[in-house]
Amino acid sequence: MIIDSIQSAIGHTPLLRFTHQQFEEIPENSAIYAKLEYLNPGGSIKDRLGVYLIEEGLKQGKIKEGTTIIEPTAGNTGIGVALAALEAKLPTIFVVPEKFSLEKQALMRALGATIVHTPTAEGISGAIKEAKRLHEEISDSYLPLQFENSANPAAYYYSLGPELVEDLGEEITSFVAGIGSGGTFSGVARYLLERNSTVRLIGVEPEGSILNGGASHGHEIEGIGVEFIPEFLEGLPVTDFATISDAAGFAMTRRLAKEQGTLIGSSAGAAMVAALSEVAKLPAGSQVVTIFPDAGDRYLSKEIYSREVY
Ligand code: PMP
Repeated sequence: MIIDSIQSAIGHTPLLRFTHQQFEEIPENSAIYAKLEYLNPGGSIKDRLGVYLIEEGLKQGKIKEGTTIIEPTAGNTGIGVALAALEAKLPTIFVVPEKFSLEKQALMRALGATIVHTPTAEGISGAIKEAKRLHEEISDSYLPLQFENSANPAAYYYSLGPELVEDLGEEITSFVAGIGSGGTFSGVARYLLERNSTVRLIGVEPEGSILNGGASHGHEIEGIGVEFIPEFLEGLPVTDFATISDAAGFAMTRRLAKEQGTLIGSSAGAAMVAALSEVAKLPAGSQVVTIFPDAGDRYLSKEIYSREVY
């Protein structure tokens, strides 16, 4: 396969099938399909969003030659946007809460981005506030704002959803995916619902996120979890939210590496915990789809594969 730009390698990732042979928790004749989004060139599901946000911004005239792109991000969206911005030769500034992985920040910088930090205690809300302030300050700038921009779910509605149906047909029993901005979950869910109104939708969050109620608090699982209910979820018939502890999410992340060779991040481990619990509730012959959003090597400084206590 010959390609002319790294950006054209984004998408069309493989679906890895797990059955009773790999996980005895999966009933005979049922399967979990994991979409290996960590195999995208920027290492995450957010490469799809980066390309889509820049394309939409250019189409709508919000981005012109030399426009600075500013975005609050946990890192993966920054990497995706930086990749897409490179192709259009646009400068990028990402506002990142301090706690997020150093590797992701190094990767954003490697792609030419400038990083601005906000205090960990202010969470992603603090990063959003600072990004808005910078946008006011820098005259020719564009703030896509993934948390509010309908291009976010649209990126997944138009790319990831169709890829799942292409590979699996319309008989997907359940879709299980982590929720950060909610773009992936809601975009894919809406695409699947239009084809099969009975599809079960399971949103995944870490303990400390508020979708199942309870107070917001810190967690180690990175990339998912919310401090406010994402507006993309409005009107979506979510079957259930699965709230996963850091301990369970990281244990599964390590198990997946050691037993299956999938070197994924902790949000994928959490999604797999939820997918296994979902498939165990369903009749034999069910197909559960989940997403492995990013790669584990961007969390090595956080001892993702070695730390035992969370
Ligand atoms: N997992 C990881 C590692 C992520 O970086 C993100 C995006 N923050 C997600 C899951 C969740 O994706 P979304 O923002 O589309 O809900």
